[in-house]
Amino acid sequence: MRKILISILALAIPFAQSFAADKAPKNEKVKNVILIIGDGMGLAAAGSWMIDNAYAPTCFDRAQFVGFSKTYSANSKVTDSAASGTAMACGVKTDNSMLGQLPDGTHVPSLATLAKEKGLSTGIVVTSHVCDATPSAFYAHVPKRGMSTEIIQDMIKAKFDVVAGGGRKYFTDPEKVSENMIDKAVSEGFTYCSTPEEFYQTKATPILGLFSDGSFPMAIERDTDFLKDAAMHTLDILDDNKKGFFAMFEGSHIDHAEHANNAEQMTFEMEEFDKLVNAAFDYADTHKGTLVVITADHETGGVTLLGSKDSPTGIAVNFATTGHSGIPVPVYAYGASAWQFGQVIENTEIFARIKALLIGK
Ligand SMILES: [Zn+2]
Repeated sequence: MRKILISILALAIPFAQSFAADKAPKNEKVKNVILIIGDGMGLAAAGSWMIDNAYAPTCFDRAQFVGFSKTYSANSKVTDSAASGTAMACGVKTDNSMLGQLPDGTHVPSLATLAKEKGLSTGIVVTSHVCDATPSAFYAHVPKRGMSTEIIQDMIKAKFDVVAGGGRKYFTDPEKVSENMIDKAVSEGFTYCSTPEEFYQTKATPILGLFSDGSFPMAIERDTDFLKDAAMHTLDILDDNKKGFFAMFEGSHIDHAEHANNAEQMTFEMEEFDKLVNAAFDYADTHKGTLVVITADHETGGVTLLGSKDSPTGIAVNFATTGHSGIPVPVYAYGASAWQFGQVIENTEIFARIKALLIGK
């Protein structure tokens, strides 16, 4: 009996996988886009999470289409988060450290800005600080990623429905700012939340959530439900708009764990990321017209997964560098028109394809 059951299961699994791909609505009109960025999350980081789970299904196994993205910037084969964030947010290759502008300084609008102009809702949630490179690529236009005060000014001006993460000190440090920028945001109409709990109690947009002084602590030091919970509350706010929404959520610290060559920290960051992505896929299952795209801005750490007798998983996670690498990164897609992301593409195509689907010409 057991043998029969195993052979039935062996038959059923390939069917289940192809059914999932078939089920992705091919030409369904895209009303909502959830772009999820794992900062520094190369294929080896995703693979190590699959091994940590003994190959039980992870969020990555649920993806309906998978492709790869070429991450090089305008002036380097190895990009930083500013140039690659700008490529995905604004559709142009720029120099490392630049945000929302071409190498010659010309400003370029982001997907979130274009969505807002079309009447859609917009939200950004990260575990790093909100003036860090990836989120800033969606609202700022500065030549250097460290220009936090100018980034905050652009962020207030952009007035997205939700911007949440860490970074209170960048708004209040008298050495950085001449006035309290939280007060300025509030005077411009923002609802300010200083804790996730305050955030979960409000839907009064625009909302600025600054839940820690700098970046969030690493996931190993806290509840790994944070990113999922904050993202789901954001979607609950954004989907009150019948026209649809654009949301960007970032697992920011995967990159930081890899810069530190710390495999244990990386595991906890991937656990938090997996919860977020699974929740986004569940959301797409119940909200017609939702496309979820998951990718990275670049690979960090030159991560390798080598056989090891000393490791309980049989694999040792090794790092070739404390910096970034030029390895292409995976693109996973789920939901309405997900098939459009099942190729090898330039990182700027993340912008171009989402724009064509969500915003049009
Ligand atoms: Zn990095």
